[in-house]
Amino acid sequence: MGIATVNPATGEVVKTFEALSDGEIASQVAIAQAAFLQYRQTSFEQRSQWLQSVAAILEADKNRLGALITLEMGKTLKAAIAEVEKCAAVCRYYAENGKKFLADEAIASDASQSFIRYQPLGIILAVMPWNFPFWQVFRFAAPALMAGNVGLLKHASNVPQCALAIAEVIQQAGFPAGVFQALLMESSKVAALMADDRIKAATLTGSEPAGASLAVAAGKNIKKVVLELGGSDPLIVLPSADLQSAATTAVTSRMLNCGQTCISAKRFIVANTIADEFEELLITQYNQLKVGDPMLPETDLGPLSTPKILEDIDRQVQAIVQQGARILVGGARLDRPGNYYKPTLITDIAAENPVGREEFFGPVGLLFRVADLDAAIALANNTPFGLGSSAWTNDPIEQEQLINGIDAGCVFINGMVKSDPRLPFGGTKRSGFGRELGVPGIHEFVNIKTIWVR
Ligand code: NAP
Repeated sequence: MGIATVNPATGEVVKTFEALSDGEIASQVAIAQAAFLQYRQTSFEQRSQWLQSVAAILEADKNRLGALITLEMGKTLKAAIAEVEKCAAVCRYYAENGKKFLADEAIASDASQSFIRYQPLGIILAVMPWNFPFWQVFRFAAPALMAGNVGLLKHASNVPQCALAIAEVIQQAGFPAGVFQALLMESSKVAALMADDRIKAATLTGSEPAGASLAVAAGKNIKKVVLELGGSDPLIVLPSADLQSAATTAVTSRMLNCGQTCISAKRFIVANTIADEFEELLITQYNQLKVGDPMLPETDLGPLSTPKILEDIDRQVQAIVQQGARILVGGARLDRPGNYYKPTLITDIAAENPVGREEFFGPVGLLFRVADLDAAIALANNTPFGLGSSAWTNDPIEQEQLINGIDAGCVFINGMVKSDPRLPFGGTKRSGFGRELGVPGIHEFVNIKTIWVR
């Protein structure tokens, strides 16, 4: 299927779109470049007003936009509406703080005056995934536009209506035409687009192969790139933890977005002495989950977003079991139309089971037992990824060891890993590099210009 809306809950092809031709892509780039030359002159106050009005439109239209998200990628409607609200929050955050984050910074040197000035780069290409089709885009767009850049969005092929709706909201809010455009284009054309001199940098959220491919194109053309890739986040539970809260959080985090979340807790790593009790708490919580129509308010998990994601997760579950692991809950598709998979919990995963080191992008939790804190940290780090991590313990010495010992872009102690406009977000190892959100997020796509005056 090319660029299309296919309802994941039914398999129905709702709408198909023609991919842009090379000529059409080139003319959108020209529009973006012309827009940048004007837009870079606008004041922070003006950009801030436009971002505030994006936030107001998102909030006023959250039910319609949320329904579009659910239609295209299958998350529950309540989660989709919450996602739109969070986009409004990130717009407000940068509207209120962007000017301060990008103010000139004085630095003492041998000059009579020396300082840093942050200036926009130009057109930034954003290659985005379908799993949070609004949030992933706005967490890039809000700081990038506030800094004076313009954006071109190449969204995932299964969320074209979300892509167009986002561009429309930004336009409606008053941003000049061409400042933010959605390109309905094939991913095979991204590398060629990176060779265009007017594209100054790129950001990609998605899989490792897509990230590597964009990084190659960026490298060839000497352009900056930010990559937010996969993860297999550990959730470590030690004996002093509040087990009930840890188990509730583990299941909430794992099942959010039907398991298709990069920072979901995917591996539960539990100390031997409390593992039986923790396993029972998990099973109780799993059995309470309601899988069904994502439009209904009582539904906890809808379908997976595409038949391919369903096939991938099913294949991984079968592979891990073939290597000796044991299913505690679920472990199969649901016998109904749409891309439904049962919430699944798996244990007895041997250290040498290679599938245990993969990312499971669906409602599948892996439960590991370990002897002590050192073994927990070693297992947490035994993955190619380093995105999020969380650990549950009330012992301050253990907390400090976990904070220092885990190789990841963040460590959350006694809480669920989440993105927050105020907190930098990103990974290490094969989870990518660069940061979004917070102060670092707005500094990724600017020229850090040094000024020296005698
Ligand atoms: P994907 O296939 O990599 O798709 C993501 C985007 O990249 C889409 O727009 C896709 O376009 C495009 N793309 C694919 N191949 C490309 C290529 N060779 N060159 C340029 N662009 C290309 O990602 P996915 O598998 O659907 O998404 C799931 C992955 O994203 C998971 O690994 C997940 O952990 C990760 N993710 C990470 C974060 C984070 O913040 N770190 C957040 C969300 C998801 P098409 O749809 O047209 O192919």
